[in-house]
Amino acid sequence: MRALLHRLSAALPGQCALCHAWPTRPICPACTARFAQPRPRCDLCALPLPAGVARCGACIKDPPPLDQCLAVVAYAYPWSGLIARYKFGPSPGWSAALARLMRDGPGVAAALDAADLLLPLPLSTQRLRERGFNQALELARQLTPGKTRADLLLRLRDTPAQSSLPLERRLRNVQDAFGLAAGAERALRGRRLVLVDDVMTSGATLHAAARLLRTAGADHVTGLVLARTE
Ligand SMILES: [Zn+2]
Ligand SMILES: [Zn+2]
Repeated sequence: MRALLHRLSAALPGQCALCHAWPTRPICPACTARFAQPRPRCDLCALPLPAGVARCGACIKDPPPLDQCLAVVAYAYPWSGLIARYKFGPSPGWSAALARLMRDGPGVAAALDAADLLLPLPLSTQRLRERGFNQALELARQLTPGKTRADLLLRLRDTPAQSSLPLERRLRNVQDAFGLAAGAERALRGRRLVLVDDVMTSGATLHAAARLLRTAGADHVTGLVLARTE
């Protein structure tokens, strides 16, 4: 019964998911203004920084394998709850509202315009079967359908939930998690790529994918996520 009610309320058209205002967008303008204020972030790891600073000390000292990293909101209230509902719920229809939020983030439209290809972070076959859809692919398709390619970057093996592991194990955990489809190098060489995911935590997963794409000859790799832990 609860699951049914949940599904019905998730399907109510024209209601804001956060404040339940009605009728409005799935995430209303007032909630967007209140909870999705743009803030200055490091251009290589997307952690918040004081205004006027482009890059954090950690990235200056040890630059990550991304040329640019964009995150739109903090993975915290109310977005964490909404994203969990979107990821595990029966409603991939949320992708349009969340993608709109992403596109409005600082620097995102420019990165999408400049990109040759958008690559969603892939899920393993098993996880895709459990979940029914890949949330990263849904977001990428909403952002730029004509540039989205889900057939080049592959998830070779499942990795334990990143959040349950200490950082050092997370890094080892993702090292061989990705592979390239046969012939993918031809499509990737010399290209500007945007890697799309819903949530970034340590960045280990994005970095592992970015390293592989660089090895394949990608010219420029941007990481783009909806939410980032801070
Ligand atoms: Zn609202
Ligand atoms: Zn940084």
